[in-house]
Amino acid sequence: MDQQIRMLILEDSEDDLLLLLREVRRGGVDPIYERTDTAEGMRALLDNREWDVVIADYNMPRFGALAGLNIVQERGLDIPFIIVSGKIGEDLAVAAMKAGAHDYLMKGNLSRLVPAIEREVREAGERRRRRQAEEAMRTQFNQISTIFDSLNALVYVVEMESFKLLYLNRYGAQLFGENWEGRPCYEVIQGGKTLPCDFCTNEKLMLDGKPLPPYIWEYKNMITGRWYQCIDKAIRWTDGRLVRMEIAIDITERKEMERMKDEMISAVSHEMHTPLTAMMGFTEFLLENEVEREQQKNCLRTIYKETERLSELINNFLQLQRLKASMVKFRIMPVAVGLLLADAASLYAAASKKHHIVVECPPDLPPVRGNEEQLYQVASNLISNAIKYSPDGGAVTLGGKTEGDMVIIWVRDEGIGIVPEFQERIFERFFRVDNSDRRKAGGAGLGLTLVREIVAAHGGRVWVESTPGAGSTFFVSLPMIREGALSA
Ligand code: ADP
Repeated sequence: MDQQIRMLILEDSEDDLLLLLREVRRGGVDPIYERTDTAEGMRALLDNREWDVVIADYNMPRFGALAGLNIVQERGLDIPFIIVSGKIGEDLAVAAMKAGAHDYLMKGNLSRLVPAIEREVREAGERRRRRQAEEAMRTQFNQISTIFDSLNALVYVVEMESFKLLYLNRYGAQLFGENWEGRPCYEVIQGGKTLPCDFCTNEKLMLDGKPLPPYIWEYKNMITGRWYQCIDKAIRWTDGRLVRMEIAIDITERKEMERMKDEMISAVSHEMHTPLTAMMGFTEFLLENEVEREQQKNCLRTIYKETERLSELINNFLQLQRLKASMVKFRIMPVAVGLLLADAASLYAAASKKHHIVVECPPDLPPVRGNEEQLYQVASNLISNAIKYSPDGGAVTLGGKTEGDMVIIWVRDEGIGIVPEFQERIFERFFRVDNSDRRKAGGAGLGLTLVREIVAAHGGRVWVESTPGAGSTFFVSLPMIREGALSA
């Protein structure tokens, strides 16, 4: 069966058209064709349908092959364009080929026409298939890019030998800049390094030219200052060669938690040692010696004090851990702050003869929303500090007032005070102002951390005002529950 080919013929002569058709039919082609000899006619035919080939007479009274070629190119069409001419000089033929015509033939010698049409149609078909494949690849690439761009992780691909970046997702471009294409990874991602990194994983990704399983590692990036868990793998790039892909997930928070946990454990065990050493020493002394009643009492008092200190440390530590674990587990209800302060005051009133505890709280102080046990811990830590850090005694005043939507409570002492540069830092974990007076007062530097954490979890704030040598006032603000909102 003859091969059907859709031919758009630019020809003014009916006779020449017939000759041409006879030639193609003889060559085994069944032409589906239209003829025109004007630009408008050609445009209309191009609008109408798709064509496999354009065959153009070089010179027509109202039109010409080069003008026809121009129309095809203007429209961005890839249709084979074959010029058939009565007489065309070699220079014109070359010019036409340069302008983009695919072939030219003499009307007197049409034996090459069918092979030329078949070849050009075949090649145009191949070009189209290639374009479609590329388009499909681009679409796929765009889809995958969209996925990678929406990840909260850095994803990039580099050439193995040259380290040139072939791909960087949006997350990466936001971190390291948009100008990454073709630049080496160490320059873009490692802050302008001029040589490959010592820790480059290229060597670990392949064996005998074959990709190995993913290599997983952790590192801290110098530009962002953050920790990443990286998954590196040799993968085949779109052109078939092996390249390195890395997916890096930000694990800074996890690292920080781990560091804090380690620090916490070592600090807590260190702090536990001090009271334990004292307790062991005194018990050993009592066991091994005959001691008088008075001395015995002294030893036991010290042991008791150290036990208290150890218990306070463990208590604060556990509370802090529990608080970190989850706030949801705690029962939240209206807490009457005045009563809570009075309760705490009465407990500490007996603790020291040198201090007198005063509560200055208006009876109509509105309640706050919170966990009673935790807020009691706040008051208790602040009062015990007020006593601890006023070794010469004096008044410890507890008070409360409202300010806007908040209830402010405070604990004031007449103790040693805190120098301004430490007034923020005392709330940090394990931070203790180091002077001999304070060292005598035991502690692990966790009390105020716990206060800050509890207050923050309640939506409030804690701060201190202090004059060294004259005393300190610790303030805690907590969101109040307005009258009538109690049932809410
Ligand atoms: P600890 O009392 O166990 O050392 P805290 O976290 O309760 O730990 O307090 C941290 C530091 O803040 C203390 O070591 C102390 O130096 C200082 N500090 C706390 N409360 C007071 C206060 N009322 N007066 C003076 N200094 C204080």
